[in-house]
Amino acid sequence: MRGLYYFTIDQRFEDNPLLQKAVEECEEICFCAKAPSSQWGYFRQRFTWESLEYLKRTLENNNNTLLILENPLKEISLASFDRVYICKMETAYEKEEYSLVPNELLVTMRTDRLSDSPPTPLPSTFTPFRKIVETSYTPSPFTPSPLQLGKACSLKIKTCESPSLSPFHPSSSYPFKGGEHQAKQRLSHYLYRDQLIEHYKETRNGLTGADFSSKLSAYLALGNLSPQAVYREINNFEQTVLANESTYWLKFELWWREYFRWVHDQYPHLFFLNSGIKNPAKQKAQIPNQELFSQWQEGKTPHPFVNAFLREFLATGYMSNRGRQITASYLVNDLQLPWKWGAQYFEDNLVDYDVYSNWGNWLYIAGVGNDPRPNRYFNPDKQQERYDPNGAFRKIWL
Ligand SMILES: Cc1cc2nc3c(=O)[nH]c(=O)nc-3n(C[C@H](O)[C@H](O)[C@H](O)COP(=O)(O)OP(=O)(O)OC[C@H]3O[C@@H](n4cnc5c(N)ncnc54)[C@H](O)[C@@H]3O)c2cc1C
Repeated sequence: MRGLYYFTIDQRFEDNPLLQKAVEECEEICFCAKAPSSQWGYFRQRFTWESLEYLKRTLENNNNTLLILENPLKEISLASFDRVYICKMETAYEKEEYSLVPNELLVTMRTDRLSDSPPTPLPSTFTPFRKIVETSYTPSPFTPSPLQLGKACSLKIKTCESPSLSPFHPSSSYPFKGGEHQAKQRLSHYLYRDQLIEHYKETRNGLTGADFSSKLSAYLALGNLSPQAVYREINNFEQTVLANESTYWLKFELWWREYFRWVHDQYPHLFFLNSGIKNPAKQKAQIPNQELFSQWQEGKTPHPFVNAFLREFLATGYMSNRGRQITASYLVNDLQLPWKWGAQYFEDNLVDYDVYSNWGNWLYIAGVGNDPRPNRYFNPDKQQERYDPNGAFRKIWL
């Protein structure tokens, strides 16, 4: 059997049951991936290139290669394959892309999630969802990297080349490189070497430095790490080192990630609409003022705290969760700009862009998602007083 393995949001060898299946089923496997779009911001492109380069190097060490192409399913002749393996995504753009693969060839699994299916019916808010899923959950056992990655691919196609990279900003909170190896190192440092997880609940609203939160987001977004592997490691940490509110809270956040995935799959057509998945009558008025939007993007609004986050974002491609909430709320509530403009800007530029987490959080803040509260407003003055009382964060970025 001849297989094509398309790495999408599962860019890893370990804990990848779809890859395991491909290796078991095929004598020859060709591996491909999509080159990062030149429309994306530098940091998103850079992290994705690093991740792909790691896959490519590992495959080359196994006498195979990775074909990095602008549009793999159009550039590779699918007729010469018996199977095409792709991590399952139900988003409109990806569905259209995968529809190029004849049904009888396509093999898919949802390897980007904690579980294979959601509770039915899916609760309309997060808390009841979490209460159902967290009590009985056990992540799947470890799947090692398949040692034999199939006979070398005999296809010869010219592939895209990675661009040259510049150094990180000295104050970046995300000075991490993409790739499975780096992902495992970060997880191991965050849990075992530095035991930062021990204080996660108290530090997670921090704004400066690399260690106030796990910084696993970009690794999870590209699938350099499986969420099940992270969950399993936290369980292990709890059993062998310590279990407290903080260790629990990191799992709690992984459930948020999971929830937005299932919400999307329940409302695939509403998820990206301006009116969202909730009663649009409650939506804020929107004024499509391009000049105000440019000021927000450049961090030149009247509010210094908001500006500091947006300038950090421009300089590093990362913003803390607190920063994302404050800047998104400012765009929606204070500037009354269309929330989708902000979501699209984040999509292009976030180093850890994840379609479900980004659009799900924006829907939530725009008041048309899964928020049980009718008006969630992050007052920037109060937020500044609470989270940056001495101005240390503003001093770095303004
Ligand atoms: C407007 C907005 C847009 C966002 N866009 C993205 C995005 O594109 N990609 C992304 O991964 N996260 C997104 N988030 C969620 C969150 O801000 C980031 O996951 C987090 O800041 C990443 O840093 P970390 O890995 O150190 O997080 P940690 O605090 O260490 O959390 C651990 C993991 O839990 C998950 N997680 C944490 N908070 C959330 C959340 N609110 N929603 C979903 N998952 C969560 C992430 O996978 C994260 O890596 C967004 C939040 C907001 C408010």
